[in-house]
Amino acid sequence: MKITQIRNATLIIEYAGKKFLIDPFLADKDKYPAFPQSANQNRTTPWVSLPISVEEIIKVDAVIVTHLHLDHFDDAAKEALPKNIKLFAQSKEEAEEIRKSGFQDVDYLRKDGTYFGDIKLTKTQGQHGIGDKAVKWFHDFGMSEVVSGVVFNHPSEKALYIAGDTVWCEDVQEAIEDHKPEIIVLNAGDAQIEGDLPIIMGKKDVYEVHKAAPNATIIASHLEAVNHATLSREELKSFLSENDLSSNVLVPDDGESYTF
Ligand SMILES: [Zn+2]
Repeated sequence: MKITQIRNATLIIEYAGKKFLIDPFLADKDKYPAFPQSANQNRTTPWVSLPISVEEIIKVDAVIVTHLHLDHFDDAAKEALPKNIKLFAQSKEEAEEIRKSGFQDVDYLRKDGTYFGDIKLTKTQGQHGIGDKAVKWFHDFGMSEVVSGVVFNHPSEKALYIAGDTVWCEDVQEAIEDHKPEIIVLNAGDAQIEGDLPIIMGKKDVYEVHKAAPNATIIASHLEAVNHATLSREELKSFLSENDLSSNVLVPDDGESYTF
C-alpha cells in the first residue's frame, strides 16, 4: 500500500490496486474563517495550500468520507469530484445527505464490513471529544458529533486502520483489538474547542495508541491545516524523539508518501 498525506485529514490510499481518497477537504488556503469558540481564532481554515492540484487529487477509484464536517468534505470537494464516483459515507443518513449534492453512487460503511471489489472496508467508532461540552459545541454550530473510522483488509495487504476524528478512547482500543492493524493513521493535531477541550488526538493519545499497538506503524495526520489544531509537527516530533518513538510514529509533511 501507499499512503500519501495531502492536507489535514485528506489522504490518498493506494491499496490492493485501487486508489481511495479519504476525507476530501479541497478548499483554497484561507477560504473559511476560524471555527467558532476554538483555538487560534487569528488563523483561517485551511491556513495552508494543497501540495498538489485538485485534478491530481481526485483521480481515484473511490472516496471515503468519515463524517460530514467541513474539514473532511467541503464544497470545493463536492464541486470537483465527478458525480458518478463511488463514495462511502459513515452511515445511511450521511449517504443520503451526500446524495443531495448530486452524487449518484453513494454507499455507506458497516460494522460488519462492506466490499469495494475484493477490498473489505469495516467501519469503526470513535469519540470526537469526550463529554457533554463537546457534544454541545457541535450542536451549537450545526454539526453532528458522530464520527467513524475505517479498517482496510485484503489478503495481499497489511491491515490499515484510519481512526478518523477521535480522541484516544475505548472505541479505538476495541478497533485495535478486533482488527490488529499493522498500519494506523491518527488525526493527531490536538484540535481544541471551548478553551482547552481536545476533539481529536494529541501527543499523549498517540502514545496511548502506540502502547495498545506496539508493533504497528502509526502515521500522524490532521496537523497544521485547520485553525483549532494546536499541535505542530515539530512539537510532535520532539515528543516522539524524547520518548524513543520516532521509528514507530511517522509525521508526514503534506504531499509526503509512505509505502508499506
Ligand atoms: Zn477534523
